[in-house]
Amino acid sequence: MKKLIAGNWKLNGNFAMAQAFDMAMMDTVTNYNHVDWLICAPFPYIPSLENCIRGAQDCSAHQEGAYTGEISADMLADIGCDYCIDGHSERRAMHGETDEVVKEKAARVLDSGMTAIICVGETLSEREAGNELDVVETQIKKSLPSNSSAQNTVIAYEPVWAIGTGRAATADDVLKMHAHIRQLLKSTLASGTEMRILYGGSVKPSNASELMNLDNVDGALIGGASLKSEDFIAIGAAVIK
Ligand code: PEP
Repeated sequence: MKKLIAGNWKLNGNFAMAQAFDMAMMDTVTNYNHVDWLICAPFPYIPSLENCIRGAQDCSAHQEGAYTGEISADMLADIGCDYCIDGHSERRAMHGETDEVVKEKAARVLDSGMTAIICVGETLSEREAGNELDVVETQIKKSLPSNSSAQNTVIAYEPVWAIGTGRAATADDVLKMHAHIRQLLKSTLASGTEMRILYGGSVKPSNASELMNLDNVDGALIGGASLKSEDFIAIGAAVIK
């Protein structure tokens, strides 16, 4: 499977930026077709992205009904989204999303025919206590719907202390965690060998070639560096063909 280079714009961007970014993606998807290019834009700008794969940053745990302000997975699929991020650490921390909520939302994503990008990752204090492998293992066990497979689910390992801090995990940290996740997926899912495991947390052009070409790293989830098309493209270009 190709590596997945996924941008998460969070609460950033505007219509003009989305259009300009999409123009830059036009040649990129042809010139660097050894990777898959995905942008998870804020909801209003998703339709502006016509040249890369479209994704959303979140969806409702509900299918339809009296839930003012919510957007369902089916609606996202209906406007051409193929992916939806689920359980990003910012949603877990700021919106109280537990593993159970993350699992509910992921189930809606899978029902809609999209692929769920389920985010997991330890906090700094959990790492300092030496608990990072257990924390991530528990999150994965509790957040994945029972029908998750390599065809409909991607894991994004994002240590919370590396997100938006400029301090990415070291290659050794990433190798160790991704090997642990791979082992877990292999022992619990029939398609566990093929499920993509992304790394996220301060990925930028300067560390992309080191991080993206490690064993069991099947792509990146990129926040800050996905806001500038040159940086985003440079990260995907660093993936060895
Ligand atoms: C993210 O928000 O998923 C992320 C990885 O952010 P950044 O690349 O800015 O660390």
